[in-house]
Amino acid sequence: MHFSARLLQWFAQNGRTLPWRQTKDPYIVWITEIILQQTRVYQGMEYFFRFTEAFPDVASLAAAPLEKVLRLWQGLGYYSRARNLHQAARDIMEQRNGKLPENYQEWLEVKGVGPYTAAAISSIAYKEPVAALDGNVYRVLARLFAIDEKTDSSRGKKVFEEVAAELVDPIDPGGFNQAMMDFGATVCKPAAPLCKQCIFNRECLAFLQQQVGKYPLKKARKTARTRHFNYFYFFFENQDGRPMFFVQQRKKNDIWKNLFELPLIETEDELKPEVLSDLPEWKNWFADGCDYVLDGSPLFFRHQLTHQQIHARFFKVKLEPDKAVTFTSYFLLVDHHKFEKMPKSRLTLLFLKKIL
Ligand code: SF4
Repeated sequence: MHFSARLLQWFAQNGRTLPWRQTKDPYIVWITEIILQQTRVYQGMEYFFRFTEAFPDVASLAAAPLEKVLRLWQGLGYYSRARNLHQAARDIMEQRNGKLPENYQEWLEVKGVGPYTAAAISSIAYKEPVAALDGNVYRVLARLFAIDEKTDSSRGKKVFEEVAAELVDPIDPGGFNQAMMDFGATVCKPAAPLCKQCIFNRECLAFLQQQVGKYPLKKARKTARTRHFNYFYFFFENQDGRPMFFVQQRKKNDIWKNLFELPLIETEDELKPEVLSDLPEWKNWFADGCDYVLDGSPLFFRHQLTHQQIHARFFKVKLEPDKAVTFTSYFLLVDHHKFEKMPKSRLTLLFLKKIL
């Protein structure tokens, strides 16, 4: 039996039952594939329900304010996915009259959609015979055929694409792509693959050569860059005794663009509280003579992103209420209830949880 037929038979008996597999609606497949990029299936599930309930079609997604989209995305990370999804929905409404793309090439032109996502959508929703290659699929192919090419080099990618194109099932390409993903996630796993139970263990070259651990080959990883973020929880109590504090929206082309966070000073190294008042940003904020008291030592969090490690220090700074109003020329004044509704990073959430 051909490889794809055996794989599809395995999938029919062992494939995961996932809510998005109940439909072939290209809009739903698109949303799902974007959510699942860099995200574990079970973590993505909650977001899938949230998103499809709030935005059941491309028109509702395009009509929503970006902040609402980011707020629903909160906690999932890689926020550029949400920004691109939202912009793409607006582009589809404006440039295509709300009509979704109908094939691989057209999907490739959509903001935030790369070859993998375009292949997944067009194969599942339109039965176009294109193979979708993600980390799972690279690993399975590398092991099955003992492919001595790096999966993240351009030459390697070409080789893997050619092998996958040979294997994809022409009748059920969507099923084939989903089966490959499930097979990679549950049998040919990154660590401790289930080779003894594997239906391909009689022909898998890596297994026969006892070299499963060698594949897939990858380029050496770049070391993550360390950044020092110093956040300031500038707070005072209003007449009702409620804590009020200041936030700002990130605008630069950087991580967490458009999310809200506490006032921030980024420094080259760890910032000691005793040199705070020497910083130009600090001098500017306190130019009008507002009094402050540093409330305890800063709280420290180490936050790992794919290519960056954030060393975050949160300083609690109590302000004199009468003068704190000068801060509204730099920042937004909120209370915890209002801030709860604004989109923010997981790091900011961690701090809030700690102090509340
Ligand atoms: Fe993967 Fe092992 Fe099966 Fe080969 S035999 S495809 S390494 S699970």
